[in-house]
Amino acid sequence: MIGMNEKFADIHYSLDRCEKCGKCISQCPVLKIPEGKAKEFMEQLSQGIWVAEVLERCTGCMSCDAICPNDAGPYGLLLRHYEERYRKSGIPQVFLNATPVRNGPNIWRTTRRFFSEDEKRNVVAWSKIPVNDEVLFLGCNQRLDPFIADSPIFDGIEIFTDPRECCGEPYMRLGLLDEARKRARSLSLRFKQAGIKKVITFCPACQNMMQNLSPEILGVSYDVEVTGAVDWLSSRIENQEMGNSLRGKTVTIQDPCHATGLGEETVIKVREILKKAGLNIIEMETHGTRAECCGLSAAVSRYRLSDVIGTGLKRAKQAELTGADLTCAWCNGCYITLNMFRLAYPFTPPIFHLVEILELAGGMTSKRRMPARAAQLLAAASGSLFLDGFRFRKVHLE
Ligand code: SF4
Ligand code: SF4
Repeated sequence: MIGMNEKFADIHYSLDRCEKCGKCISQCPVLKIPEGKAKEFMEQLSQGIWVAEVLERCTGCMSCDAICPNDAGPYGLLLRHYEERYRKSGIPQVFLNATPVRNGPNIWRTTRRFFSEDEKRNVVAWSKIPVNDEVLFLGCNQRLDPFIADSPIFDGIEIFTDPRECCGEPYMRLGLLDEARKRARSLSLRFKQAGIKKVITFCPACQNMMQNLSPEILGVSYDVEVTGAVDWLSSRIENQEMGNSLRGKTVTIQDPCHATGLGEETVIKVREILKKAGLNIIEMETHGTRAECCGLSAAVSRYRLSDVIGTGLKRAKQAELTGADLTCAWCNGCYITLNMFRLAYPFTPPIFHLVEILELAGGMTSKRRMPARAAQLLAAASGSLFLDGFRFRKVHLE
């Protein structure tokens, strides 16, 4: 047990606002803990007690933050427990393959060999110091599929990325809060050094980190104006005529965990964009700010691949049950993960990124390289695990 009051006071979870009503975990789409037990568990969690029924089943969808009537940020409480676990016993070494800024092998390094020539050229060009003070920023996720940002939709906007930088999100999810803080500080400084004043974030995770989670959980503020890709795309297409290529088709939507922090306004904008593209929306059982995880963040609770597979398959089946023609992902992480699952479970409606849907609706040619990249990513993930020796012993970040 840890001394909660001093240790947990500095994070997003607010002890002051939490009434231990238990709604967050009783209405959680995954845990569904009975009300009486939920109150008891929240009391224990806020006292620093490890409650396995919550912490080892949570899939990290962050819906609890949207459920809490007092805006107490219960997901931050869970993260703080994961941080404590990391401090005490580290993380399995194989998980270091999922940390984007690392000297050793990781999935980013082993994926590069699959890049097409244009992707290689683009990453080099986008890594240069930008000429303008407004950029489309690509985080670590888009460095796994750089083709996704090489779209006429972004004509006229300078693209910037830096393979040595990351907003800190993957580290924060693993409970490595000190490392996440270090990454956020480094990226914020990089923007400053590069003279960047306005950032359009391709990834909703970067947006939520820069606008909400970095200042609230990590205590790092960005000295730049941040606009999410959904807001930017929404105004970009405002006066644009769409073609008929998708008209009348149906789509279901994979809302990411970061939708919770970005709020209903962003969730609604995604739907307005899809309707403008001519699509009819069929919602999954859980959606919007209460959507379930694509599978990616489910690894953290027990470090088990079976949790990732179970969570991803559940989501894939929810998409299948809608009977929609397409699945739209507006988070590149969800887009990659669901496409990887689709290799094994082909019943999910084909997964398109929102950008690809706009390309098709606007009569542009879409590269649509993802199904192949999903297979390459699986190979890259296995490759980096082999290079790392499949070490499950627990380590701390060097
Ligand atoms: S975090 Fe919010 S929903 Fe959860 S117990 Fe506290 S007040 Fe209730
Ligand atoms: S993050 Fe998701 S799965 Fe975890 S407790 Fe919150 S709502 Fe439940």
